This record gives sequence, structure tokens and C-alpha cells, in this order.
Amino acid sequence: KMPVRNVVSWSAMIACYANNGRPFEALELFRDMVLENNDSFPNSVTMVSVLQACAALAALEQGKVLHGFILRRGLDSILPVISALVTMYGRCGKLEMGQRVFDQKKEKDVVLWNSLISSYGIHGFGHKAIQIFEEMIDNGVSPSHVSFGSVLGACSHAGLVEEGKMLFESMVKEHGVYPTAHHYACMVDLLGRANRLEEATKIVEEMRIEPGPLVWGALLGSCRIHCNVELAERASQRLFELEPTNAGNYVLLADIYAQADMWREVKRVKKFLKARGLQKVSGRSWIEIERKLHSFMSVDEFNPHYEQIHALVFKLSTEMKEKGYVPRTDVVLYRLDDEEKERIVLGHSEKLAVAFGLINSNHGEPIRVTKNLRLCEDCHTFVKLISKFAEREILIRDVNRYHHFQNGACSCGDYW
Ligand SMILES: [Zn+2]
Ligand SMILES: [Zn+2]
Repeated sequence: KMPVRNVVSWSAMIACYANNGRPFEALELFRDMVLENNDSFPNSVTMVSVLQACAALAALEQGKVLHGFILRRGLDSILPVISALVTMYGRCGKLEMGQRVFDQKKEKDVVLWNSLISSYGIHGFGHKAIQIFEEMIDNGVSPSHVSFGSVLGACSHAGLVEEGKMLFESMVKEHGVYPTAHHYACMVDLLGRANRLEEATKIVEEMRIEPGPLVWGALLGSCRIHCNVELAERASQRLFELEPTNAGNYVLLADIYAQADMWREVKRVKKFLKARGLQKVSGRSWIEIERKLHSFMSVDEFNPHYEQIHALVFKLSTEMKEKGYVPRTDVVLYRLDDEEKERIVLGHSEKLAVAFGLINSNHGEPIRVTKNLRLCEDCHTFVKLISKFAEREILIRDVNRYHHFQNGACSCGDYW
């Protein structure tokens, strides 16, 4: 243990966790800091890190507590704190609160504008994101790399192909900002999702920098959506060279082969994974109930609530089946019988977290779940139906964007 703990050493530790993908630990440490409470009051630096952790976890209730603390201690005059607050609300699915915090701040820097643009982007409000981007320029603030990343991402989530292309072209011409691999990846994603794979490939071929894993990954992702085996093989070949230990790429390729009913190839890819000792990241979802985060792994028999939740998921699925739900067992990449596949699909972490939310929250309260990977097709259909028949608003943030389920439909328009 550190002999003397002061606000600087606490903040450094919390920032270290928050910036290294360990938000759970960051929040825990912050709690310890507040509890210990001997004169080490959190300052603005601490606040930014803790807000980042809340944003990563979509821990809205804890984020709100921090907001109150920030106001009481007068930290709301500090721009980075305000930007972190806007981002936190956006990533926790409370866009209107983020907008309000943004509006209250009179002088705004590019970071604050970016926070709002990306908030609208991940919720699929592409036009709104573009509008704010333009407002920023009208206010005399020059867009940065990050601004373009956010606004292009917003176009991609909303399927705004022409708008995205125009913005991309304006980068160098009008703003002197040279695209990085991230911007190219956004464009490939935008075109790829819209099934304009030829144009996407052309972008990759004509890049003025080396297309890294980001760009090839975006291309491979597009191939999954449109089941293009040939292009997928090309993209994954490059990815295997660039990131030999990233299991996700192999899984994605296997997924594409499975969609194309090429089971021998699925087997080959899996064998390769096994031989290299690589393991895919397992699906994990979490939900905040009364300021406490509850985390679920797929088919999580270790979770103390598992039996109760699984029984509910099973009951729900039986009811949904009567209403037309057909489990998408094809998302399971194993050759098992359908019953076994169905058991796996019903045990997906996002279903467990949603069911836990249904049990532990009041009717009328929206359910907010966060998932570490992309939401699968089956869970998407399942949650759409639940939102209708349980009459619940359900928000799920996956690794790419927000899905806002209401009355049987999703805000992504089934395009994600
Ligand atoms: Zn699923
Ligand atoms: Zn959706």
C-alpha cells in the first residue's frame, strides 16, 4: 500500500484504471477514496476519470451522483469536466441530459462539441450529429480529427452515405485535416454497410496511408453483413498477418462461412484457432440496478441469480414463440442439435441482463443494458418482441452503438 495517499495519488490510480479498460476497478477505487475521506477531496482530474468509467459502464445512477457532486463543489466551470459529463450522459443513454449540460455552458471548445456530436452519433441520430457539426463550424470552432471521426461514425450508424462522402471529401479540401486510418475505416464501414462493397474496396486500394487492422476489420465486418465470402477471405488474410493473435477476426470469418453453409471451412478456422491457443472474448453484459452493477456472462451458470433469470428467459421465449419468435440458432457456430443450440442462444448474456432488469425494476422504468460485443441477430429479435409484449422501453448499448427498443421496433432499423 502507498504510505501517504493524497488526491494526486488517488487520481493517478483512478485515471490509470479508467484509461486502461478497467472501469469497474476505477469506480471501486473512487468509492474507497470517498470513504476514506481524510481531506482527499476528489478534484476535477479525478472527476474526469470517474466520469469516463461511468460512461464505459453506462452506470447512469452513479454518474448522476457525480453530477450532483460536481455542481456542489463548483467543478462545473471546468471545460474538461463538462465534456466528460456530456459524454457520460450520451453513453448512458440520457441524450437529453447531455444536451442540457452542453447548452448551459456558454464558452465551448472543440472537445465539448465533439462529445455532443458523438453522443447523437451512437444513438443513430445522424442528421442531428451533422447539424451540430455544422453549428460548431458556424461558431468559429475548427473541427479536429476527432470531430470527423464522430460525424463520420454518425453517418455510418444512420446509413447516410452521401452525407458521409461529402464530409470525408471536405476534410482536406476545406479544413486541412488529413484522414487517419480511423477515418478511412469509418468510410469503409459506411459504404460496406450500405452494400457498396466495390466502393469500399476502392477506398482501401486508394488510401494514401497503409490500411491497418482498423480498415481491414471494417471491410471484414461489412462482408459479414452481406455474406461476401470472397472479399472476406481477402480481408481476413491481411488481418491474420497484422493481428495474428486477435481471435475476433477468426470468429468473424467462421461466422461468414457458417452463413454461407460452408461448414468444412468453419471447422478449419476453428481448428486453427485451437491450434494457436486463441480464445474468443466471451460475451458479457451488465445492468445497473440501484447504483449497483450486475454483470452476466453468456450461459452464466456461476451467477447467483442464474436459475431465476434463466427460468424467466425460458418462459419469455415460450411466450414469444407463440407470437412468432423463431430462435435464430444459426448464430451458434457449432454443429449441435437444434435443442442444444437453442439452449445456448437463450443463455446469451444480453438476454440474461434484460431478464434481470425485468425482474428488478418497476414497470415504466426503461431497462438499460451494456454489452461488450456486437448484439447478435437473435437477441435483437428477442428484445424487440419483449419491448412490445412486456411494454418496456429497453436500451442496449453494444460495442458499436445504441439500440433503443420500443413497442416491437429498434431505433437502428435493423441496420447495425
Ligand atoms: Zn445473442
Ligand atoms: Zn437495433
